[in-house]
This record gives sequence, C-alpha cells and structure tokens, in this order.
Amino acid sequence: MSISLPIDINNVKGFLAEDEAAALYQYAEETSVMGPILEVGSYCGKSTVYLGIAAKKNNAVVFAVDHHRGSEEHQLGEEYHDADLYDADVALYDTFKEFRKNMRAADIEDTVVPLVSSSEVAAKQWHTPLGMVFIDGGHSFEAAEMDYRSWAVHVKIGGILCIHDLFPNPDEGGQAPITIYRMALASGLFEEVEVVNTLGILRRVQKPSK
Ligand code: SAH
Ligand code: MG
Repeated sequence: MSISLPIDINNVKGFLAEDEAAALYQYAEETSVMGPILEVGSYCGKSTVYLGIAAKKNNAVVFAVDHHRGSEEHQLGEEYHDADLYDADVALYDTFKEFRKNMRAADIEDTVVPLVSSSEVAAKQWHTPLGMVFIDGGHSFEAAEMDYRSWAVHVKIGGILCIHDLFPNPDEGGQAPITIYRMALASGLFEEVEVVNTLGILRRVQKPSK
C-alpha cells in the first residue's frame, strides 16, 4: 500500500518498518471512528505521522504519550544513542523539539495531542475509552507491563491494541513486548488479528461469560 504523506518520512528519525507503518495506518483509519487513538512511545513521531494522518481523515484525535527522554537504549553510550538528540546543557536526551517539528511538517498539529509525560503518570487519571492503543515505549519488563496494565483496559470492545517489537526468537530481541502480547491473549480480552513484521495486532473482544 502506498500512503500519501505531506512529509518526507525518510527525514523522520525512528524505529518503524514500512509494512508496520502501513498496518498502523490501516488500523488507525478503521478504529478512529470509534474513539481516540493513543500511542505510548512517539520518539520523533514516525509512528505518530501514520496514526495522525489516518485519524485526521475521520476528524479524530491521537494522544501521543512520551516523556521524550528516550528509552534505556537511547541514553549516552547505549546502542541507539543519537548525539543530535542529546541536550548536553542539561545532560538529557530530548526528542520533543524534533517531534514538534515533524507534527508541523506533516500538518497534523490539529490532530495530535502530545502528552509529554511518562506513561505511568499519563495513565493515572485516564478514563476515556479508546479506539486503538499502540504500545512502543520502554522495553524493560517493568515498563512494558506497566504500559499494558495502564492502557489495554481502555481499548473499546471492537477496538485495536498494537504492540511493537515482538521477537518470538529471544536471540533477535528483548522479550518484554512479546510477554505483554501473550498476557493480552491469555486475558481473554483480546484476539489476535495478525502479526506484521514485529507488530502484533489484537482486537478487544467481549469477555466470554463463564
Ligand atoms: N514509535 C516510535 C519509536 C518509539 S522509541 C517510532 O515510530 O519511531 C521508544 C520511545 O518510548 C522513546 O521515545 C522513549 O522516550 C519512550 N519511552 C520509554 N519509556 C517511557 C515511559 N515510561 N513513558 C513514556 N515514554 C517512554
Ligand atoms: Mg519499537
């Protein structure tokens, strides 16, 4: 599928494959008629662009949760550190400036609501049912489990939960995302729709009564 975007996506730093981006777009277009979309882990906004452009078609909203301080792997000296995104004055990673620039370039500032906050704090007073949740935040077991427990409950019946970075083979990547994916399936609240590359897609279903 070729999606027409008002921005050159190759100039947006991020961690999302083309097929995964297309799937996010497709499910966001489908579910944003049901309620807002929420993502955990926006970084510079690559995934947010796809969610935002799709949601905009339905005059919907995307809540983009990220403290913009980077995950473990982005910190100084770590594998995915990007020196351009490091604010040496305060010795902190900072992706928010880049994120804002990209939202503006993609013309979705009227659709995307940035929540510059940790996922845990953003979730504290959250009560709004969501059409779709995309989890792509911290990859420690604690962070991933917190994200799952904080947000999955807000997905409406019929809505979609997407989890990024599923690696069935532990040699290929961390096991936290796939662990929460399996938790979601085991809960009986979600059914697998499909897995696109490393993106798992689940649909919230009515819990069968015992
Ligand atoms: N979806 C992005 C990539 C996200 S990278 C893309 O398409 O390119 C993971 C992001 O999660 C980082 O920006 C990091 O700051 C954020 N993050 C990690 N732990 C977090 C937490 N506990 N709360 C909020 N954001 C978090
Ligand atoms: Mg990811």
